[in-house]
Amino acid sequence: MAADYYALLGVSRAASQDEIKRAYRKLAREYHPDTSAHGDAEERFKQISAAYEVLSDPGRRERYDTFGTAENAAPNFGGFGDLGDIMETFFGSGFGTRRPRGPRPAAQRGNDLETTLKLTFREAAFGVTKEVSLYAAAMCESCKGSGCEPGTFRIRCEACAGAGEVRSVQRSIFGTMMTSRACGRCDGTGEVAADPCRTCAGDGRMSAARMVAVEVPGGIEHGTTLRVRGHGEAGVRGGEAGDLYVHMSVDGDPVFHREGDDLVCRLSVPLTQAILGAQILVDSLDGAETIKVPPGTQPGAVVRLGGKGIQRLGGRGRGDLVVHLDIEIPRKLSAEQRAIVEQLADVRGELPGDEPSKKARLRDKLRGK
Ligand SMILES: [Zn+2]
Ligand SMILES: [Zn+2]
Repeated sequence: MAADYYALLGVSRAASQDEIKRAYRKLAREYHPDTSAHGDAEERFKQISAAYEVLSDPGRRERYDTFGTAENAAPNFGGFGDLGDIMETFFGSGFGTRRPRGPRPAAQRGNDLETTLKLTFREAAFGVTKEVSLYAAAMCESCKGSGCEPGTFRIRCEACAGAGEVRSVQRSIFGTMMTSRACGRCDGTGEVAADPCRTCAGDGRMSAARMVAVEVPGGIEHGTTLRVRGHGEAGVRGGEAGDLYVHMSVDGDPVFHREGDDLVCRLSVPLTQAILGAQILVDSLDGAETIKVPPGTQPGAVVRLGGKGIQRLGGRGRGDLVVHLDIEIPRKLSAEQRAIVEQLADVRGELPGDEPSKKARLRDKLRGK
């Protein structure tokens, strides 16, 4: 295996061409044989130059990254040839896809998180910005997520020589079998921090409490889940953060319920107002509204107030306020009220059979009414 060019230049495997160039210039000045005070300056200068020659050429750098050498030679996996080929011999071509993967990227996406947010009926109807508190992995401020002490870099893992996996050979009655597993020392990345961050022990993350402001759009319904991008766990070693999923738990309301974007409630209308018509105050999400009960309103009648309902989710305007009218039939009448109603019934030719009616009058008399 060739020398670790990244370690020689003191840059990470993900370093940009600019970073590589800067690192090389700095080191070349330091180790230039004509001016350097270092005893091994000439040797170091040669190594640094060789590393730069490869890493500054994208094609050669890619070959180096893949095969551990910049030369155009066949990859060398310790004399066993290609692992995929060996597996193919034993198990058929299905294993041809299981070629050596090489080290996995050091940076990994953070996990998604989920939480539940309680909303009042009105908050859900109109939208609200609410904070949820989380205790989760966040980027380490000390190393900015890199896992390395400031000013240091990741270097090749010695345990797996940068391959990210460890191979072992087993002899069995079927012949020689080669197995590989992710290197435990470098977590399969092929690199370790030369000087792990002391704050986060090299993970690049720290668990911490934080608040996330969740913008809940008006019109959201109970059981809906919102995704807040990038507010899940921080990524590993500078990887992308996960997302936060917020489940909505919307309280019921004693007066209203929802039917889509419409706000629905019931209203009791006294019998006489149903007969004669009236203006009645009704509660809405915007305060009291006056509704017109027309004369001769029937049980089960519905009055609609346009635009007084729930905000349309992701759209313009609002639904309606839908008021179901219940006509209140008096359960008890005074003698005077009864006389009036009977008079009405008489005029309308709707008097019931005389007998029960007379009995009722007699009963009222006996009670002294
Ligand atoms: Zn750190
Ligand atoms: Zn390793």
